[in-house]
Amino acid sequence: MDTVPRYYDSLDFKSLWEQFPTGTEYLKTTYLMSTDEIRELQNSRFLAQMKRAWQVPFYQRHWGSTGMLPGDIKSLDDLELIPPFDVMNLRDAIDRSPPWGDFVALDLERQNPMPLVLQTSGGTTGLPRAMVYSPMDREVMNINTGRRLYMQGVRAFDVIQVMLSLGLSNGGFLVREGIWKYSGAVPVMTGSGAQTPTRRQIEIMQAWKSRHLIGFPAYIRKIGQVMQDELNIDPKSLGVKSLILHLGVDDRESLESLWGAKVYDTYGTNECGSLSAECEYQTGSHVFEDSFVLEIKDLQNGKDALPGEKGVIYQTTLFKHLAPLVRFNSADISAWSPGSCACGSHHRRLQRIFGRSDNMIKLRGTNVFPEAVGAILAEQKEVNGEYVCIVEDSGENHEEKMTVKFEIQSGARDVNLIERDFALRLKEALGVKLLVQAVGVGTLDEVTGLSSQSKIKRLIDLRKTKGIL
Ligand SMILES: [Zn+2]
Repeated sequence: MDTVPRYYDSLDFKSLWEQFPTGTEYLKTTYLMSTDEIRELQNSRFLAQMKRAWQVPFYQRHWGSTGMLPGDIKSLDDLELIPPFDVMNLRDAIDRSPPWGDFVALDLERQNPMPLVLQTSGGTTGLPRAMVYSPMDREVMNINTGRRLYMQGVRAFDVIQVMLSLGLSNGGFLVREGIWKYSGAVPVMTGSGAQTPTRRQIEIMQAWKSRHLIGFPAYIRKIGQVMQDELNIDPKSLGVKSLILHLGVDDRESLESLWGAKVYDTYGTNECGSLSAECEYQTGSHVFEDSFVLEIKDLQNGKDALPGEKGVIYQTTLFKHLAPLVRFNSADISAWSPGSCACGSHHRRLQRIFGRSDNMIKLRGTNVFPEAVGAILAEQKEVNGEYVCIVEDSGENHEEKMTVKFEIQSGARDVNLIERDFALRLKEALGVKLLVQAVGVGTLDEVTGLSSQSKIKRLIDLRKTKGIL
C-alpha cells in the first residue's frame, strides 16, 4: 500500500451533511418528520444497509445457516424474518477470525485504503471487545453526538467538562470528537477520577467555568458530595447548566437538586455511539431514527413490547460501513415512552435503561436488576448511593442469596435502623428478600471501580452455576 489515506478525502462531507443534518438544521428537518416520512427514510437506508451486510462474512455465515438468501428481505416490514444475534455470536466471530472478528468487513488487500480508528467496549475483566470504525461510521456517530448536545442546551463556546476515561473504551474519545466537530462547544477532557483526581476536577470546574458536565451519574454525584461535605462549596454556586449522562436507573431528582442543573439522559453504546437523547422536555430519549431502527422485545415471548412494557432492545444500524448491525440483541432493557412529546418530534422515545438482561439475577423466581437496587438505595437517607450486589449460593435448600453492601455517610445516626429501612424497602419494591450490610464511605471503591474506571461494577456473582435468565 503506497498511498496514505487522507481523512478529508475519504468522504463526501457535503452530501453526508445533507443526508444526516446537524445542529439547528437537524431540528428543523429530520427531527420534525412525520412517522410515515421517518419510516420511508428508514426503509431506503435499511435496504442499503442489508446490501452492505451481505458483504460481511459474519452475516453470510449467520444468515446463510438459516437458508436466508439475499433478496428475501424486501423492505423494513420483513425485519422480523431476520435472525437476531447477540454478544455470544460476536465473541464466536472473534475466535474464528482474530483479532477483530469477521463482523468487521475489513479487507486490507482489496479495499481502498481509508483511515480507521479502533475503540473498545468498556469491559472490566479480560480483553475488551474491539470495534473498528470507517470515516462514515465515525462521522455519523459524531453528528449524532452533536445533535444530542444541541437538543440538551449546549451552545457554541460553552465549556463542557468530560469525566469519561480516555483509553481503550469509546466513551471519552467519541464525545470529544462530537463536541469539537459538531457543537461548537469546547471539550475539557479531565477523564475519570484515575486520570484527574476528584479535587482537581473541582478546581478545573470552578476556574474554567464548566457549563455542562458529562460523566457517569455515580461519579458526578460523588463530586457534588465531596464539594458539599469536604470543601464546603455548594455545587449549585458553580452555575453548571446541565448534566449530560447515561442516567440508567439513577435518581434524577437528587442529582438535579444537588447541582441545581438539569439532567439529560441518553442511550449510547460502543458500537453505535449515541442512539437516543432527551430533549428539553425530559420525556424519554428520542431515538435518532434516521440512523437506527430499534425494536423492544418482550423477554418472555419475544414479541414487540407495547409502550410502557419492559423488554430488550434490538439494534439495527442504518449507516455503518465496516460493521453494520442488523438485529443485534443488545441485552439492554428499556421500554417505549407512551404518548407524544411537547417538542413536536415523532422520533420514538426510550424510557431509561433499566438494566441488562445478562446482569439480571433470578432470585427465588423473581427477576432482580442490580441497577434497580441502586435506584431504591438513592431514595434512602444518610447514604451516598454507592453499592454492590453480591450473589452466592447459600447452602440451604440450594437457594441463592443476594447481599447488598452499601455506603453510609460518616456520622450517620443509627446504622441498624438504616439497614432495616433499606431491607424493608427492597422487599416491598422488588418482592424478594435481600440481605443488606452498611459499610463506611469509600469502602467499596476498590470493588466497584468508582474512582478509577468509567464502567462501574455493581454485581459480583459468586455462584457455582450461574443461572442467568
Ligand atoms: Zn421531545
